[in-house]
Amino acid sequence: MSILVYTESENGKLKKAALEVVSYAKAVADQMGTSVTAVAVNADNAETLGNYGASKVLLVKDDSLKAFNAKKYAAIIENAAKNEAAKVVVVSSSANSKYLAPLLAVGLDAGYVANVVEAPSNVSPFTVKHSAFTNKAFANTEITTDVKIVGLSNNSFGLVESGGSAAVEDFSPSIPDSGVTVESVDKATDKVSIADAEIVVSGGRGLKGPENWGMIEELAEVLGAATACSKPVSDLGWRPHGEHVGQTGKPVASNLYIAIGISGAIQHLAGINASKVKVVINTDTEAPFFKAADYGVVGDAFEVVPKLIEKLKAFKAANA
Ligand SMILES: Cc1cc2nc3c(=O)[nH]c(=O)nc-3n(C[C@H](O)[C@H](O)[C@H](O)COP(=O)(O)OP(=O)(O)OC[C@H]3O[C@@H](n4cnc5c(N)ncnc54)[C@H](O)[C@@H]3O)c2cc1C
Repeated sequence: MSILVYTESENGKLKKAALEVVSYAKAVADQMGTSVTAVAVNADNAETLGNYGASKVLLVKDDSLKAFNAKKYAAIIENAAKNEAAKVVVVSSSANSKYLAPLLAVGLDAGYVANVVEAPSNVSPFTVKHSAFTNKAFANTEITTDVKIVGLSNNSFGLVESGGSAAVEDFSPSIPDSGVTVESVDKATDKVSIADAEIVVSGGRGLKGPENWGMIEELAEVLGAATACSKPVSDLGWRPHGEHVGQTGKPVASNLYIAIGISGAIQHLAGINASKVKVVINTDTEAPFFKAADYGVVGDAFEVVPKLIEKLKAFKAANA
């Protein structure tokens, strides 16, 4: 009876969230006195998972699984969970995992809690803390089913290296035909994605136009951050829709969110509540974002941001 964890990868490379869910699963396994088995699909560096606490990796190599397919992936994880007699299955809270987890819950007759932010406060009864109401509140929920599925919120637990190693085994379960064929996946950019980013630099209508985004990109580059924006910015075509953050856009759970020229409307804040540290740069002292911010700079973005870039570059050069 091990803890089973599904690890996401892209183009053969495990995502950072994959290492985080394994770190989390290891903490749960230690609490329950058991071990961690990871499932990886087409990952070239599956043995890396040993360093984060997996003692076994079930590796599925199959070209037909290169594009994510929820039904097929859920069948693989269900099969692995049954083989391992897993009582706890851990997935991330990415869009893909939120899509496959309910299918998995049906297959395993399991209770599922998404957006979990901490290791269980108790494993008997199994109680997890998770965010609720678009991250405005937390709830402690007891999962009462025999098999439990935990969806870990990105960047909530962090990476914990254990220095261990994992036995990588080929795994070839029978995979059902899902009735859906993904013909191609076109990514808008090859930059850091908002969902995986530890730091996000986001711009709003206060930046006046797309021609002013150079400084946002420069700041993001210096910080190794992803770029994002408010809804009107993408509606106006200044930035791609994939960057729009909020209630109707993408959620962000970064360690640092820098909002520049964004008012802080409730629909925007709904997407960033899970971010740990929020920094706001705005000319208007009454901008609602200041109430949600940890640090606020009242000032003109066109003066503040270039100075910030200059200081950060100098700091990096001095500490290189
Ligand atoms: C159903 C619904 C869903 C929505 N979903 C979303 C969503 O998912 N995401 C989202 O973002 N919005 C969403 N909205 C829109 C939301 O209500 C706001 O209109 C939007 O967030 C405002 O964007 P903004 O802050 O960039 O622009 P504005 O409201 O125009 O604010 C611009 C800000 O920039 C500041 N500013 C101006 N010049 C400067 C300068 N030189 N330097 C620094 N600061 C400056 C201003 O003081 C102001 O605070 C939704 C609305 C509805 C009705």
